[in-house]
Amino acid sequence: MFSEKKGRNLRDFFQKLSKWLKSLFIKFEKERPVKRLALIVGHSEKSGGAVNYKGESEYDFNSRIAKKVEDISNRFYESLEIKVFQRHGGSCRVLFPGISLYKPNATLELHFNAASVRAFGVEMLVYKHGPRAYENAMIGDIFTDTYAREYQVKQRHTHRLDGDSVSSIDGVKFLSEGRGVHNLKSMHECNVPFVLLFEPVFGNFETEESKAVFEDEDRYVACLVKAIGDIREFI
Ligand SMILES: [Zn+2]
Repeated sequence: MFSEKKGRNLRDFFQKLSKWLKSLFIKFEKERPVKRLALIVGHSEKSGGAVNYKGESEYDFNSRIAKKVEDISNRFYESLEIKVFQRHGGSCRVLFPGISLYKPNATLELHFNAASVRAFGVEMLVYKHGPRAYENAMIGDIFTDTYAREYQVKQRHTHRLDGDSVSSIDGVKFLSEGRGVHNLKSMHECNVPFVLLFEPVFGNFETEESKAVFEDEDRYVACLVKAIGDIREFI
């Protein structure tokens, strides 16, 4: 007879096996390195930055976006952890202690552009004199590619370095001075290897491009989550 005893033994064996596999898996999960991305809301509660055609500041808009991106990404990506950083006032230096403690692999600062005339295009800013500047630009380019594809953005503001060696990295601006540099430099000073500052659209005029972002926030959030997913293995 195929005894009950044999059946029980077999069951015990499989239970033990599955328990062992489970513990192995948990150990593996714990030991797998988790990368960290600090998602920084550009500007501050006191000084909100540019205002879009709907009357909302960069800070207020991106505070909402950043929290949604943080929430979805943390549920989506097991090997990546995202934490939002924002400031109530002061310069980006007030983020130093928090960023230094968090030790992110990368920071991504969210903004939107504004100009005195109707302007178009997406920009990713990286610091020209930072460590691994070209790698930063390449990662910025991958991120911008995902965005430009989703929104069919035609203009990507490109700044060519002398010698034209980064001409293929379109949509990424290398900065050595001016707007944005202070923020980028500050994060590198906290020993963050990858520092990006993203400007998806010019927001102060109502255009097809700006409407695509401001009238459908869930789409914008989903696009940022996707773009973050696309760069996560490189940071
Ligand atoms: Zn800004």
